[in-house]
Amino acid sequence: MIHDVVIIGAGPAGLCLARALSGHGLSVVLLERQAEQELAEPAFDGREIALTHASQALLERLGLWQRVPAEDVAVLRDARVLNGPSLFALQIRAEQAGAERLGHLLANQEIRRAAFAAVTECADVQLRCAVSVRAIRRHPREVQLELASGESLRTRLLVAADSRFSETRRQLGIGARLKDFGKTMLVCRMGHEQPHRQTAWEWFGYGQTLALLPLNGNQSSVVLTLPPRDIERLRELDEESFARETERRFDRRLGAMQLVSTRHAYPLVGAYAERLVGPRCALIGDAAVGMHPVTAHGFNFGLGGVQRLSAGVLAAKARGEDIAAPALLSRYERQHRLATWPLYQATNLLVDVYTNDRLPVKLLRGVGLRVAQGVLPLKKGIARHLTAAG
Ligand SMILES: Cc1cc2nc3c(=O)[nH]c(=O)nc-3n(C[C@H](O)[C@H](O)[C@H](O)COP(=O)(O)OP(=O)(O)OC[C@H]3O[C@@H](n4cnc5c(N)ncnc54)[C@H](O)[C@@H]3O)c2cc1C
Repeated sequence: MIHDVVIIGAGPAGLCLARALSGHGLSVVLLERQAEQELAEPAFDGREIALTHASQALLERLGLWQRVPAEDVAVLRDARVLNGPSLFALQIRAEQAGAERLGHLLANQEIRRAAFAAVTECADVQLRCAVSVRAIRRHPREVQLELASGESLRTRLLVAADSRFSETRRQLGIGARLKDFGKTMLVCRMGHEQPHRQTAWEWFGYGQTLALLPLNGNQSSVVLTLPPRDIERLRELDEESFARETERRFDRRLGAMQLVSTRHAYPLVGAYAERLVGPRCALIGDAAVGMHPVTAHGFNFGLGGVQRLSAGVLAAKARGEDIAAPALLSRYERQHRLATWPLYQATNLLVDVYTNDRLPVKLLRGVGLRVAQGVLPLKKGIARHLTAAG
């Protein structure tokens, strides 16, 4: 038997693509190396995902949003960017785009749980867990996969959704530009004395970068970006000492703080695949574009890719055409690159400038924020981008 689509990686992107393709007469197989239990009940991983209005709309269409308990969704109304010890902040407000909020925040764990539940309802999607692919062979009319168990699978289209360090991408002979920022990000939930007013902070301090994502009540997701050895030390501190040090790093602007979750660390490496497609194959999610989290766009881009690729595949299926035709895949690549490459580059530039602590650059960083604060069209543009419906 030949399948229509095989997706490798049942992370949020792979699961959403499978769900988007379901119900249109295609046979879809999703291969995942983790055990099914880990997908069904994913553990808290510290990531709180800021979702744009367009992403929320897609999650609603896929039937995922409805599966997330309302009390687990937090409103992200405004955002502020700070530099060094200065009290000045660049403010980006939802009202600048005529909206009530810039977006919503949702734990990655919740997204994964909802996506898994949505996919298990799709009779035309076969989810196979605890498997790995040993070899991939491409032929003009199909792709053959050999699993580690020795079993073979045949498909018309192969999609890699197996993370920014994608093994499938390598097996397909597609390179990626990796950018190692040399820092690690520590994420956890913390309670604090002062209210956050549903405002996210991105604080480019000297020698550290801090972020705060507002959750419900007086709790936030705290993100500390530091050299790996400092993160290791912070992870090992007892809860009390960790809270006191985090309070101090936040200059006590939120008053007393307490740790209310486990701590998780992520090495910061960006990735952009050299090609997003090849003969009978495509890359989506972080396997295509692995963003630095500072602009909170990784999964938003992943969902954009799901929408673009599934639209092309489903249109070809409806016309009775090849769902992996070169023209279709090239269109996906063009559209996805256009939507992601400028922000990928801008994000990397922002990180390079705002984590550079040499004196002239420090001065420029402060001037940059004040100039940006005075440019209403720029702030409106950012707010509109986040709140656009699609
Ligand atoms: C700290 C942090 C904060 C973030 N905040 C935001 C945010 O606010 N907004 C936003 O949009 N994005 C954010 N992101 C990015 C977002 O988390 C990712 O873009 C998203 O999780 C990527 O989903 P994915 O499915 O492509 O990859 P992954 O989540 O990496 O999933 C890949 C899946 O593939 C499986 N897999 C891997 N290799 C294989 C293999 N060889 N065979 C089979 N299966 C395999 C894995 O087990 C996993 O299930 C953040 C990321 C981090 C680290």
